[in-house]
Amino acid sequence: MQLLENYTPALKHPVFKYITQAALQLNVDTYVIGGFVRDFILQRGAAKDVDVVAVGSGIELALKVAELLPNKPKVQVFKTYGTAMLRYQDLEVEFVGARKESYTEDSRNPQVEQGSLQDDQNRRDFTINALAISLNTSNLGTLLDPFGGIDDLKTQIIRTPLDPDITYSDDPLRMLRAIRFATQLNFTIESNSLKAITTNAERLKIITRERVMVEVNKILEAPVPSIGFLHLETTGLLQQILPELTALKGVQEVEGQKHKDNFYHTLEVVDNISKNTEDLWLRWAALLHDIGKAPTKRFSKKVGWTFHNHEFVGSKMVFKLFKRLRLPLNNKMKFVQKMVLLSSRPIVLASEVTDSAVRRLVFDAGDDIDSLMTLCEADITTKNPHKFKKYHNNFKIVRQKIKEVEERDRVRNFEPPISGEVIMDTFNLKPCREIGQIKDYIKEAILDGAIANDYDQAYILMLQRGKDLGLVPKT
Ligand code: ATP
Repeated sequence: MQLLENYTPALKHPVFKYITQAALQLNVDTYVIGGFVRDFILQRGAAKDVDVVAVGSGIELALKVAELLPNKPKVQVFKTYGTAMLRYQDLEVEFVGARKESYTEDSRNPQVEQGSLQDDQNRRDFTINALAISLNTSNLGTLLDPFGGIDDLKTQIIRTPLDPDITYSDDPLRMLRAIRFATQLNFTIESNSLKAITTNAERLKIITRERVMVEVNKILEAPVPSIGFLHLETTGLLQQILPELTALKGVQEVEGQKHKDNFYHTLEVVDNISKNTEDLWLRWAALLHDIGKAPTKRFSKKVGWTFHNHEFVGSKMVFKLFKRLRLPLNNKMKFVQKMVLLSSRPIVLASEVTDSAVRRLVFDAGDDIDSLMTLCEADITTKNPHKFKKYHNNFKIVRQKIKEVEERDRVRNFEPPISGEVIMDTFNLKPCREIGQIKDYIKEAILDGAIANDYDQAYILMLQRGKDLGLVPKT
């Protein structure tokens, strides 16, 4: 990997000039530290957040910087944390005083006391996150890298500055952060670290669900999410977060018949879909699309392994899972439920495409039909190249047919061509069951392709059906 080695350009944003000036006036040593430095060296694109550490008061430094900045921005002070934040142009700058931390058994929130830059670097989670660049006039732009963070960036390693066992036990959130960075950056977690995560996996229980999910979502948003989910599984973390997913692991064999390992299959589907969508919720749908397979798994001598109704059972599991994980219980969850419920529908079409099946699919999926197709294409993980090609080709035909059916029959957001009022008026009815029966009959006929989605054809059918139900049109 090509890394940048000249560190002064990291400070080209105009805000740094003012921080340097403020630090000089207050006579406090000041550094930019953490993710900003790491991402600058990795050239990960323009940063939005900067962390500045002052060997003194971070709050005083922030206030002084705000005073010097031309637009005199507002400073948000967080007294309890000893931090302050201001925005300047496109950057959010957070100021903190250098600190030394000590932890207790039952909390990830440490006791904090003032410390040196070295103390502050010691409390950082990873060597690549402990890199600091001086903002002091005496050595402006000098890199301070006490733990070999640059080497770790070069060799693409996630390593803790101090003993990993203590680092993860002190703040178990770091276990998830290690896996998250390894996934986002495609780095290797150093083996002692990985061992220490496994040893400390149980400590995850002291972390709030919300924080856990921030990291899980970041893993799921990475280019190849399986990197993270495999680490989560092997270290014993996933079992605590998503037992529904680890329940899919394993291949059972009865009378010489095996089923596939649905856990690894799921991860393949998630990686596949991640090449085609950035949508976090569609990625969630891919992650959960088979969770109903564990509770519905059966073996029968006649047909072998079955997972009857697993889509329905899986979609019912989504609510509880979202609730437990403090994920939003809004239309995002409903979308995931719908995707899980419909996840097998297009598969049938992969072997034989019929107009009426496509029409019904568009009717049921509505505006989410494209997402559903993206999910089902990702679900093709067969290693048989002939089948792989055939299924993908058929899905191309399905997509084409969806377009045609939509143009012709407008079933995506279906509006019945004959309203209840027309039916009531035609047969001189008050609201009653027959109206629904006639409307349903017309809808089914349209979905089957027996008639077009058209008023005149539907009107004739209404008269016929009314007659069958013993109704007489008014004269
Ligand atoms: P990203 O913006 O991608 O989340 P980041 O490294 O900037 O990456 P932040 O959460 O903003 O992540 O943290 C800023 C810095 O604070 C980190 O680079 C790291 O030095 C330190 N840090 C954050 N969380 C922890 C933690 N749990 N333990 C130790 N140090 C941490």
